[in-house]
Parts: sequence; C-alpha cells; structure tokens
Amino acid sequence: MNKVRVRIAPSPTGFLHIGTLRAALFNWLFAKQNNGTFVLRIEDTDRERSKPEFEENILEGLAWLGLDFDEFARQTEHASIYKKYLQQLLDGGKAFYCNHEREELMEESDAQRTAKEAPRHICKHRDGSIASGIIRFKNDSKEKITVKDIIRGEVEYDASLLGDFSLARSLAEALYNFAVVVDDEEMNISHVIRGEDHLPNTPKQILIQKALDFGTPIYAHMPLLLGADRSKLSKRHGARAVTEYREMGYLKDAVINFVALLGWHPPAVKGEKEKEIFSLEELLKKFDLEKVQKGGAIVALEKLDWFNKEYLKFLPLETLTEEAKSFVTEPVEESLSKYMDVLRGRITHLTDLDPEIKNIRNISDYDSELLLWHGKLTTSQAAQNIDNIIEILSGLESSNFDQKSVESALTLLLEKDGKGAILWPLRASLSGQESSPGPFELAGVLGQKETIYRLKKAREILL
Ligand code: GLU
Repeated sequence: MNKVRVRIAPSPTGFLHIGTLRAALFNWLFAKQNNGTFVLRIEDTDRERSKPEFEENILEGLAWLGLDFDEFARQTEHASIYKKYLQQLLDGGKAFYCNHEREELMEESDAQRTAKEAPRHICKHRDGSIASGIIRFKNDSKEKITVKDIIRGEVEYDASLLGDFSLARSLAEALYNFAVVVDDEEMNISHVIRGEDHLPNTPKQILIQKALDFGTPIYAHMPLLLGADRSKLSKRHGARAVTEYREMGYLKDAVINFVALLGWHPPAVKGEKEKEIFSLEELLKKFDLEKVQKGGAIVALEKLDWFNKEYLKFLPLETLTEEAKSFVTEPVEESLSKYMDVLRGRITHLTDLDPEIKNIRNISDYDSELLLWHGKLTTSQAAQNIDNIIEILSGLESSNFDQKSVESALTLLLEKDGKGAILWPLRASLSGQESSPGPFELAGVLGQKETIYRLKKAREILL
C-alpha cells in the first residue's frame, strides 16, 4: 500500500464542532496506526464567511485535545494551482462558462421537480460559447459511478443526474468540490475519511478526478451524528464549539473517549462486560476504521457526563489538579490537590469544584439540631463526644494532621462510642450541612486549626 496520508478539511466558517472533531480523531488514529501523515487543511475558499477567529478556534480545540497534525495548508494559498487546472479543463472542453441568472436556474429546477426529475442544471452554454460567468463541469457521463467506501461498501450514483455542476465562481475562485479534488491530489491524500454528509459530493469529485487524470483516494464516510431523538444534531444536543466543552468543565480524555465511540465500538469479548473506557493509547491499539458502523451515531451529553465522572475518579490526582487550576476562584493554592482528592468523587464537571470548595471553606450558620444525628444523640451526648474529639485532635502534631492521622487518632473513640455517634457530629461540625464529604476528608482539607475552631463553634452552639 502507498503511504497513508489523510486530512481533515474544516471550513473556518464556524467553530470546531463535534463532527469535525470526530473526523480529526478518526483520521489522526488512522494516520498514527499506519505510520502515516495527518494533514490539517483549512478550506477557506468561501471568503465572505471564513473568519480568522474560527481558524484559531479550530487550532485551539485540536491542540487542547492533543490531536497534533503533521502538515498544515490553507486553500486560499492554492489559488494559482486551482487556476491552472481550471484552465486545463476549459482548454480541454471539459468545463465551460455559464452565465445563467439565479432565477433561470431556479425555474429549471422547479420544472424538473414538477416533472419528478432530479433537479440539476443542464446548461445551454456547454459548447463553450461564452467567455465569462461561473465555471461548470461539462458532464456528459451517462455511466454509473461507484464510490468504493471502507465503511459503506459500494455506493452507486447515476452520473447523468448530477447535471453540469459548478467548479468555480471564476478562474480565481474555486468552489468546494473542485478545490478538494485538486488538493487531495496535490497533497497525495491516500484516504478521505469524512462525514457521510459528503457522500453525495463524492461522485462529482470522482468525475473531476477522471477529467484531470488524477487518482481516486480510498473513501470512508463516517455515519451521521444525531441527537438523542435521532434528529439532526442541534445545539441542544451538543452541537457546540468543542472549546465550549472545556469551559463547561469536561476533561479532554473524557471528550476523546466519548467522541471515539461515536460510530465505532471495539468488538465485544464473549463473557466480558463491554469495555467503554479507552485512553488515546488504547484507542491507537484498538481503533479499526473498517469496523466503523453505517448507522447514525447518537450524541448523548449524559454519556459525556458519565465519562467525565469516571475520568474524575481515576485520573492521577496531579493531572486533575492541574486541569482544575483555571476553574478555581477561591485562593486555595497548595491545598487544591487536597480539595480535588476529597471532591473528585462528588463532582461531574470541573466547574462544580469551585462552589464545592466555597461550601467547605465558608461554613454557614446551622441549627444545633444538625449535630444530634437525627435525634439519635441527646444534646449532652453530642457535647461530650465533641469534647472528646477536640481533646484527641488537639493532641496531634499540626504538621502531621491529615485525613489518615485524624482517622487513626479517632479509632479507639469510634470503637468505644460507636461510629455514628462520633462521625456524625464531627462531620456536621465541619460542614454545617446534612450532606457533605466525609469527616476525615473534611478535617484533612481544613487542617488542624480550622477543624478545632469549627468543633469549638459546634460546642458553643450546643451550650
Ligand atoms: N470542508 C468540508 C467541511 O468542512 C470538508 C470536506 C471534506 O472533508 O472533503 O465539511
């Protein structure tokens, strides 16, 4: 096989969205698996709608997720190459100028629809009789065109139904189908892995390739991404900028894992629970382009939440702490990793961290009832237990005061008085809330001084 060279070709007319991200991931994996080259080609031929901020956002999103590319190109920089090939088609009588007005084209397609024919333009100027206007492909083909696709198998199109489709607005302004064909050839693209929405463009691209004596890359059209109700993906379903996921507090590993399973699943192993957690390294081993499904893939944000929670549980604490830094407004500095350790099992998004930390740091007023363990303790029992806790915890070395030392210091007391009778008032004193992280964790993040202070406060409330 020739060297694998793949590309993604996003148009900078919008932010990097999840569809392009999936294309990026699948292409990236396929390139890496085959020792190939992954190209990022910015398709900015639509000059009015293309914006530098969208290109920046595409680059930012890919960089965040670690999907590095080996080569970079911008279509606007290829204008002279397009011009050369357009001229070649015009000179060879394979393309021509057309100056039909929009209204005329609309009338034609309306009439075709009424006659139950495929709407297409069959141009009167295909003999090359005029010298300006848009440039169209002279489509004389009556053949069936077969797209050979790794995912979809063989898909047949009737070439005559495509009409004299457009190639360029002028010699200087190539349009999508033409620019893609020229670039894929010039950049020696071996495999075109892209969304299924481009499948209907493929027969046109194959006709252009033939007219220019180019080779045809191997195609793989990935299934459509759908919302939970199988409708077209909309903002409600997660069709937002990928960088927005970062702002929403999703971890990059969770996003990658989620996206990898949009249309692909590893083969099930008999008798084993289906594995869903895959790191990028594992994906490199397991991903198989040939096994990508044909049917639409549902984008369910609840699933992304699930992945995020899982990754929050098992990623190394240092990694999570690093990721969390930009989400914390409280000045917690070196104790951030302690908070992360205590809270990682309780949060879904990194954005949940800050309010949870605030909750722990700024204890609000509470009723003395809270300390009585739903009435299981009398006021004097609770007071006595808190006194005992204060005495024991005050005796600890402050430099050695952490979750573990607190836990072991209280072991005997727990055995003597029972777990609930000690742990409930301790936890309630430290959190001021019905539900919170556990008492040892809280003591660990608060430190000795604050722990004793809060216990003494609780003791005052009980007086
Ligand atoms: N520019 C196209 C898009 O943004 C990509 C087309 C292709 O991959 O051939 O959808």
